[in-house]
Amino acid sequence: MKIISLLTVLLFCNAMVMSQENFQKDTIRTDKGDLEITFLGHGTLYFTFDSKVIHIDPVDMYADYSLLPKADLIFVTHQHHDHFQAGTIDLLMKEGTELVFTKICADSYQGEGISAANGDMLNLKDIRVEVVPAYNLVHERSNGVPFHPKGEGNGYVFNFGDKQVYIGGDTENIPEMKKLKDIDIAFLPMNLPYTMTPEMVVEAVIMFKPKILYPYHYGNTNIDDLLTLMKDIDYCEVRVREMR
Ligand code: ZN
Ligand code: ZN
Repeated sequence: MKIISLLTVLLFCNAMVMSQENFQKDTIRTDKGDLEITFLGHGTLYFTFDSKVIHIDPVDMYADYSLLPKADLIFVTHQHHDHFQAGTIDLLMKEGTELVFTKICADSYQGEGISAANGDMLNLKDIRVEVVPAYNLVHERSNGVPFHPKGEGNGYVFNFGDKQVYIGGDTENIPEMKKLKDIDIAFLPMNLPYTMTPEMVVEAVIMFKPKILYPYHYGNTNIDDLLTLMKDIDYCEVRVREMR
């Protein structure tokens, strides 16, 4: 009996290790220890920092969340199905997990969690987070309504020690990006018709000059187009990860 349970535990651990190793990870040095980024796919990823796990837009198309670390914090950028899934959030919950939603997501998650609006400043588990706008300027549905109307969705700027990490959410190169200061790492979405073209991503980079750009949520967009446009911008390193 004991051997069987030991085997079960070993197999379970092995499955966990395998599931984690399948994903690309980057480590960023900060003055409060390493920030690890695990890239799950599309707009979905998680951070590990200061012994805390921070999930962004957890949805089950890209990972088996029953095998991933439970969340200390969960941030959702907006209600679209590729960003928000109540059932996946349920899987990540543990004692003390804090949720940060838009108003629409908070309403649909039975009013639980923080309903964060553009402009809010949060301080959760010793991590400061600024809530910033995410919306379309140009791309809209056939009825003339933007895919992402202004005020509905959130981007988030995280302070991990001395490093500032900006998660764009589903946005275009909106003028509010000019106010972003000292961004070390930016995640910017790049797929049509919902978010940005490679040209728009470059316009965004010029506005706030991140040191590292991770294009994400890029679907079938040709990454080489972005790399060509970015080749003369020497203050920003483009890092391509499997975030289709
Ligand atoms: Zn969306
Ligand atoms: Zn999306």
